[in-house]
Amino acid sequence: MRQDRCKVLVIGAGPGGYVCALRSAQAGLDTMVVEAAAPGGTCLNVGCIPSKALIHAADAFHAAVQMAADNPLGIRASVPSIDLARTMAWKDGIVARLTGGVTGLMAKAGVRLVQGQACILDGKSVEVLTAEGPVRIVTEHLVIATGSRPVDLPDLPFGGDVLSSTGALALAEVPKRLAVVGGGYIGLEIGTALAKMGAQVTVVEAGPRILPQYDAELTRPVAARLKALGVEVLTGARAIGHAAGVLTVDTADGRREVGADKVLVTVGRAPVTQGFGLETLGLTMAGAFVAIDARCRTSMREVYAIGDVTGEPMLAHRAMAQGAMVAAVIAGGREDWDKRAIPAVCYTDPEIVTVGLLPGAAKGAAVATFPFAGNGRALSLGRDDGFVRIVHDRDSGLVLGVQAVGAGVSELAGEFALALEMAATLTDLAETVHAHPTLGETVQEAALKGLGRALHL
Ligand code: FAD
Ligand code: NAD
Repeated sequence: MRQDRCKVLVIGAGPGGYVCALRSAQAGLDTMVVEAAAPGGTCLNVGCIPSKALIHAADAFHAAVQMAADNPLGIRASVPSIDLARTMAWKDGIVARLTGGVTGLMAKAGVRLVQGQACILDGKSVEVLTAEGPVRIVTEHLVIATGSRPVDLPDLPFGGDVLSSTGALALAEVPKRLAVVGGGYIGLEIGTALAKMGAQVTVVEAGPRILPQYDAELTRPVAARLKALGVEVLTGARAIGHAAGVLTVDTADGRREVGADKVLVTVGRAPVTQGFGLETLGLTMAGAFVAIDARCRTSMREVYAIGDVTGEPMLAHRAMAQGAMVAAVIAGGREDWDKRAIPAVCYTDPEIVTVGLLPGAAKGAAVATFPFAGNGRALSLGRDDGFVRIVHDRDSGLVLGVQAVGAGVSELAGEFALALEMAATLTDLAETVHAHPTLGETVQEAALKGLGRALHL
């Protein structure tokens, strides 16, 4: 059997693993990364990027459909159609460009990429099944970055017309009738996109409302938009089976039959912790996830874990930040996980951004809200739904959390996170000159309102 050795061995080249490997090699450490599929992981191949490409195409198509009808912009257009196979080919091109870019970056930094399935033998050695046969790699430091996988339901196993997000992101044509089981991040992002492309969509959500992790105020504009798009949302509902184009659903009002040519099951993701020898390490677990400390160390010396395999929030930028920190720690740095906030963006219509504390999460907190209906930029973009909300300390004005719901608010996530990282107060936000006309002025206006000096309200 071929043998190799390195200083740092990363299993998984998703956003967590590839960033860790890049930073490790840039720090001068001999680094190898093992990847069973394409570099870039869930995020680049079947997650963040392809879903956002699909959402963009859906928005463009939907805008064209609206322009073909009577519209206040005075635009006349003929009725558009969509060739989803071509849309998917365009999306695949973006994915290929990015995964190729990651491969190139790793090669440039001197990371040695091994393609194959890794199997852990012990905390210092891993066997990889490559196309050329097995390779045994001995390492000083092991980083587990194996990510997560979609979860299905016992009554709705993936296969045939029951799709995971991966299947939905590879559809060749828009289904006539689509049922989405699970009204969380993925179900609503992809479900809304397919509704805009012409599918008749029904969302089946077990919780009392869509996106139940957020408060009702924040999700109300999304629910209103889904209704306007003709998407039916069944809450407090559970799907119990799919046969002959019919999804059977239990609701508080009794059993319902929902016509569905395809069923997209998006009820959460589970960490990848089995099937590659992880159990041989006997690591301490935190539920289904690998338990880590503030430096992403597991319970075994020199074995680290990062990204989705370590738990919520399962977000690409958290995985990347953890990956960079672990590389710095292995290189001898004294870094700890000291992030004040991890922004979360839900690319629904309208988008939702949350950073830091939600209202009610802290004692002595007050809330200042400003609606997009009072923002010139929002109106000139044809959208006035949603708001920016600042949760702040009542006495000091310290910003504790910022949330927004509105078209295009994802691009405000950076300002929100920076405010928390820099320990900004309402006065800092209110006294920062924001360009006009921009959606960001709403942040300044909300801060002014919190200070009792609202301007455009
Ligand atoms: P992953 O990206 O899952 O990568 C793990 C890698 O490890 C995989 O490439 C896998 O092949 C490899 N691997 C596993 N086991 C082995 C083994 N034994 N040997 C070799 N290789 C192995 N997050 C956001 O922040 N923003 C978004 O907009 C967003 N949108 C999403 C949309 C969808 C549809 C989905 C499914 C997810 C989305 N996410 C989003 C979540 C995001 O994709 C994940 O949080 C992120 O990819 C986690 O990174 P990771 O490095 O921990 O794991
Ligand atoms: P999720 O946790 O966001 O949503 C799952 C939903 O399914 C919940 O609302 C839950 O109440 C519901 N549910 C659970 N069991 C059910 C059942 N039997 N019947 C009906 N509904 C049921 O999970 P997801 O949408 O699968 O996404 C997984 C993770 O991927 C997210 O938590 C997030 O971390 C990540 N992600 C992030 C983004 C982003 O950042 N924009 C996008 C997509 C995914």
